[in-house]
Amino acid sequence: MDLYKLFLEKKALLEGHFKLSSGLHSNKYFQCALLTAEPEIAEMLCETLAQKLRADKIEANLVIGPAIGGIILAYEMARALKVKAFFAEREEGQMRLRRGFTLKPDDKVLVVEDVVTTGGSTREVMDLVQSMGGEVVAVASLVDRSGGKVDFGVPFYPLLKVNVETYSPENCPLCAEGIPVVKPGSRK
Ligand SMILES: [Zn+2]
Repeated sequence: MDLYKLFLEKKALLEGHFKLSSGLHSNKYFQCALLTAEPEIAEMLCETLAQKLRADKIEANLVIGPAIGGIILAYEMARALKVKAFFAEREEGQMRLRRGFTLKPDDKVLVVEDVVTTGGSTREVMDLVQSMGGEVVAVASLVDRSGGKVDFGVPFYPLLKVNVETYSPENCPLCAEGIPVVKPGSRK
């Protein structure tokens, strides 16, 4: 299965000239929600990840992803692993478990994220799990666009690794070529 092609086909990966929420410009943009919008695809992708985890004897009894991008992914991963799924969400700037989600001291947690860029929100969820006495056994994601720079200190299972070039607006070669910049997700 050519994952890169699948991402392009479903418009979960766009190629062009984009302004990211960080302010940086980029030649690629991910909209993984368009992949998980199709349950059969989400199921297939998460089953593929689950097989890798099983092959490495990674045993989790709980999957947690950060809202919003990690909610569906956590749910679908949990279905593939036949365990429970929670999601963490930001409250007053802090990643928290709400809605009655609680950890037991012996919980072995798989943390999932749609796209890992710097790994920031993934790490916040890992810290949260550890602060509540759980153990993070692995991290899984649909995409690693960090260029292999991220180290979570536990096994990391990205389904697709993609190098994304990012530029400050002053040094952006796409701007220099006069290509109009698109701010993904905005309506205008
Ligand atoms: Zn640019």
